[in-house]
Amino acid sequence: MPTASEAEVAAWLAAAQRVTVLTGAGISTDSGIPDFRGPQGVWTRDPSAQALVTIDAYLADPQVRRRAWQARLTHPVWQAEPNAGHRALVDLERSGRLRALVTQNIDGLHQAAGSDPELVLELHGTVHWVRCLSCERRTPMREVLERVRAGEADPPCGDCGGIQKSATVSFGETLDPAVLAAAVRASRDCDLFIAAGTSLSVHPAAGLCEHALVAGARLVILNAQPTPYDPVADAVIRAPLGEVLPRLVAHVAPTDAPA
Ligand code: ZN
Repeated sequence: MPTASEAEVAAWLAAAQRVTVLTGAGISTDSGIPDFRGPQGVWTRDPSAQALVTIDAYLADPQVRRRAWQARLTHPVWQAEPNAGHRALVDLERSGRLRALVTQNIDGLHQAAGSDPELVLELHGTVHWVRCLSCERRTPMREVLERVRAGEADPPCGDCGGIQKSATVSFGETLDPAVLAAAVRASRDCDLFIAAGTSLSVHPAAGLCEHALVAGARLVILNAQPTPYDPVADAVIRAPLGEVLPRLVAHVAPTDAPA
């Protein structure tokens, strides 16, 4: 199937009333946060790093937890700034068209760029909070990292002494059902669905495309690499997100929006 041009996608966006956007690691690589499965990906370079985000290994092995806390301490997210791709989605929101911003990212950069936190659905959780795996108490990551810096290699929960972890979804854990349900609703309730910077290889995130298609929405894929959904997409654009998103949104952004 021939894919539509960028100009056609811009026209669809201008005509759209409810746009749901799904973002993946590709939108944050320009902010210095490496992806996981790409050529320079975290797991490509060090396959053992995957144990740090696998719940059984994390629970069973104090060594894995100590490595995980060190990795959190030095995570590039603490230095990262939102980029032009994140900012373009803030402009899209200001145009009144954004139904929801679903993200597979845990970096909080959409909110840092100025996206309304109410519209951001973090499918895989957030690295900005810590969760106790026994009592579910949530603590700001900043506070717990202070304890790590002060010498606690594997800081337990201050309430119950339980094992703590970033409030992200590890392998072997299920997604927050409320967040997933809201993402499915937003995918069924849009006339344009844009998947940006995601390989669409991880379910259930990837399946959101199907919900949108079944509901009659157009599907636009913006990604550097091919995805399994390219054959059913109305448009596939391979240009860098930091360039293509601002170009697309320029047609709909309010002219008085702050730069
Ligand atoms: Zn606890």
